[in-house]
Amino acid sequence: MSTITADQVRERLSSVKYPGFSRDIISFGLIKEIKIDGPDVTVQMSLATNDAKVPQAIKTHSEEALRSIAGIGQSRVLIDIQAPAQPAAGAGATDIPGVKHIIAVGSGKGGVGKSTVAANLAVALQQTKARVGLCDCDMYGPSVSMMFGARDRPMATEDNRIVPVERYDLKLMSMGFLLEDDSPAILRGPMVTRYTQQFLRQVEWGELDYLILDLPPGTGDIQLTIVQTVALAGAVIVTTPQEVALIDARKAAAMFQRVNVPVLGIIENMSYFLSSGDDTAELPLLKRLAAAIVNKPRQTQRHHIFGTGGGEREAKRLGVPLLGQIPIDIATCESGDRGRPIASASKNNPVTFEFEKVAAQLRRAVPV
Ligand code: ADP
Repeated sequence: MSTITADQVRERLSSVKYPGFSRDIISFGLIKEIKIDGPDVTVQMSLATNDAKVPQAIKTHSEEALRSIAGIGQSRVLIDIQAPAQPAAGAGATDIPGVKHIIAVGSGKGGVGKSTVAANLAVALQQTKARVGLCDCDMYGPSVSMMFGARDRPMATEDNRIVPVERYDLKLMSMGFLLEDDSPAILRGPMVTRYTQQFLRQVEWGELDYLILDLPPGTGDIQLTIVQTVALAGAVIVTTPQEVALIDARKAAAMFQRVNVPVLGIIENMSYFLSSGDDTAELPLLKRLAAAIVNKPRQTQRHHIFGTGGGEREAKRLGVPLLGQIPIDIATCESGDRGRPIASASKNNPVTFEFEKVAAQLRRAVPV
């Protein structure tokens, strides 16, 4: 009979994912010791959480994985549970000197408008007279540089710290500032981790009330690096009303809750389209005039193109507020492409109004 090796045990355990993450428990660094005594295997793990379901799930899945090793006798998984390092909600603790609160903007799915929301939220918070920074943590698909029309290369201080770029009274950092033209960020995993940590630790953010982090979509390594690097005051989840986006938003929310980052609320983007209500536009001129005389002034109408109530249901399910419902708005899209978020470009826009409401709620939830 062949003897069992520690490598074999590690290989099997690498199929066990940390609940809610796409990362496995080996790369997460949970395994502290593997003891092999003939056919018997004991694995000692250490874990920081206050969610009892996490160690339970890890234990069950690890034992299952160990049982699949040929010739295994008794397998034991022991988990040493510690209190998490994250501070309680509202404690205001942060690892970045001078920065009072760090708020992450995340989404389960890509393309739901997370960066648009992060940019406009940063602007709206700044307009409440808060000092705000925006850090684009999407190393593979940075968009903050484009949304703010900024191509400047960040300067370095004498002691080699990075000075963020400033636009519209916001401090900005994005991989887009470091890339030549629009070349995609070809980075390997460890480099992404290093850049993410540098963006948080080596940037001279100065005195800020809020640092908004535009996270990459999903529940992968960058999110994990961030929650392990800095103490977040909370996370905002962006979704669209469709079921596919909501399912992924749920996963993102669960990820934050598992690592004890409070979910501050949901923002439903592309909630509806506002039409002027003028459905006579296609008629010939005379008929249009007649319609204008006969009809009362028409109200704007909401068209729920992607369905209704999804964001609200999800917020209720999670027991968090629905912070805002952002309409689909052509000016918002164009404004982002032109390098000035709509909340900065136009005071008279339904999207700007909605972000003002979101900013006011966040200020109450995370007071300076
Ligand atoms: P994500 O960060 O989730 O990938 P983006 O913020 O980059 O998404 O948005 C994707 C595209 O959708 C962009 O072209 C953006 O301008 C557009 N967009 C986002 N939100 C809205 C909105 N409420 N109305 C119109 N266009 C929007």
